[in-house]
Amino acid sequence: MRPDFDDTIAAIATPLGEAGLGVIRLSGPAALSIADQLFDGRRPLSTAASHTLHHGWISRAARRLDEAVAAVFRAPTSYTGEDVVEFSCHGSPAVLRELLGWCCESGARLARPGEFTQRAFVNGRMDLAQAEAVASVIGARSARSARAAADQLAGGLSARVGELRKKVIELLADIEANLDFADEDIPNLPKDRVAAAIGSLTDGINLLLSTGTRGRWLREGGSVVLAGRPNVGKSSLFNAFLAEERSIVTDVPGTTRDTIEERLSWDGYPIALVDTAGLRATVDPVEAIGTDRARRAAGSADVVVLVVDASQPLTDDDRAISRALNGQAVVVALNKSDRPAQVTPTDIVRIGLQRSVPVSAVTRAGLADLRSAVLSLFPSGPETGESGVVITNERHAEKLAESLSACESAIDALHAGRGEDAVAFDLRRAAGALAAVTGEDVGEAVLDSIFSRFCIGK
Ligand code: GDP
Repeated sequence: MRPDFDDTIAAIATPLGEAGLGVIRLSGPAALSIADQLFDGRRPLSTAASHTLHHGWISRAARRLDEAVAAVFRAPTSYTGEDVVEFSCHGSPAVLRELLGWCCESGARLARPGEFTQRAFVNGRMDLAQAEAVASVIGARSARSARAAADQLAGGLSARVGELRKKVIELLADIEANLDFADEDIPNLPKDRVAAAIGSLTDGINLLLSTGTRGRWLREGGSVVLAGRPNVGKSSLFNAFLAEERSIVTDVPGTTRDTIEERLSWDGYPIALVDTAGLRATVDPVEAIGTDRARRAAGSADVVVLVVDASQPLTDDDRAISRALNGQAVVVALNKSDRPAQVTPTDIVRIGLQRSVPVSAVTRAGLADLRSAVLSLFPSGPETGESGVVITNERHAEKLAESLSACESAIDALHAGRGEDAVAFDLRRAAGALAAVTGEDVGEAVLDSIFSRFCIGK
């Protein structure tokens, strides 16, 4: 345990701003005695049972600060594994800051970022993959990312990695037993059996690693750029998508309609939708608008929606823009489908683009189809990858890749006849890399770097 883990830490655990509630968290051996100095309830919190709530006043030296509820969690079954008190006050930054100051004056120190979770890890309340999942849950930008993070928090990834590691260790045990008894009358392990066992390991690791692309997509989302010549309906489509989202999710007060990028959740995936029409005022000549802007915006986009006005025949500008998008993932929105169509999907194929969806920004017909067409183009899109556990964390992906390459060198060593101890050496490396995912054998510097990325109060 780190030397400074035997003191008591305090932090504001909720965002600072006017809110219904604001929470101050205390954790450590003196949590209950510090809380007693600051809380005026029916009885001292230090006499309270674990997992109980107490109503009272935050007050000190006859000064009442706020009416609050104190939650008491005793070691070892609290979040951190230590004694924990959480004060739920009113969500006033002034009150929370003052109470935090009182906690520190009464013997607590300010918690470092992620220190509550770091203590939970050090005290064995969760493994490292789960602790990292806490940060992923907090940072999740869409329903699906939150679900993937929750699966990891519940231990899904740890269990999968644990199974793989168990297989490596069993194989190692067989090989090492063989080495130990090399002089005795135990037959050599059949090479085929070892090769098959390592092969099944690499398949398992590969399968898990292959979820990483989807994981990155879940974590970071994708960008979708609406491109096209003026007046085809880019802004109208942009607004139609926003209006649709807001009617389902939540209205964001004060968001102006001329914003050119909005974060949306499409089918539970985080999407940054960019409307290049928002740049109109800064651009002059017509042909420059089409090609230059489309090319620039498209260059940074995961998927481009090329909007055309399908109520008119395609123009040279439409063709120029579509050529400029060469090599990009493109879906053509055949907009204004509420009017008689002058452009068909075949016309689009003729200009070299494969996918088109009729849509009307005005009636909103076809919006869902356009969304699905866009989602299907994302790298290793939503549907692929193993269902269930998804790798969303770069460190986990690195460790899995490390264990994979160790297994591959074990196979090489086996086939090259370099002897069982060479194979065992590589398998030990594979086991070590897998163990690092869940936090066994991880150095303090790595831990500090992981937890320093958390927010304060977590
Ligand atoms: P932008 O320049 O590409 O952003 O195009 P706008 O969104 O400003 O739309 C240009 C014109 O087309 C406006 O008058 C819109 O009302 C109209 N418009 C946009 N979408 C549709 C549609 O789906 N159907 C019809 N009938 N008109 C549309």
